[in-house]
Amino acid sequence: MENCIFCKIINGDIPAQRVYEDDDMLIIKDVNPQAEIHLLLLPKEHYADIEEMSDEQAQTLARCIKKLSGMTKQLGLEEGFRLVSNKGKHGCQSVGHLHIHILGGEQLGDRMA
Ligand code: AMP
Repeated sequence: MENCIFCKIINGDIPAQRVYEDDDMLIIKDVNPQAEIHLLLLPKEHYADIEEMSDEQAQTLARCIKKLSGMTKQLGLEEGFRLVSNKGKHGCQSVGHLHIHILGGEQLGDRMA
């Protein structure tokens, strides 16, 4: 997608702190961290959110999350983490390319919002 900042990062057109990459996903550091560790899991295929997600894209995303569960030590998340995906206006989604926030590296609060 031409005007998508995450597509530009995935394509290497704009810089980001890349943490992990494979054929399905890129994991980067969030530029405005909300926790000691704040990463973003970006599926390489562009779709805005789970409403736009195809069955095949859902399977790919599940594979990415499963892979993430095997990378916790490497990412410094062995004590636990939180996954968040904001959707739409009420969810305060600001980038229209589905992404999963990965938060951890410290004790997080027990409230979601
Ligand atoms: P959301 O508000 O849920 O759509 O999340 C978008 C996230 O992308 C925010 O946490 C931003 O800080 C982050 N973000 C925006 N631009 C960049 C960038 N160029 N590099 C890394 N993270 C970014």
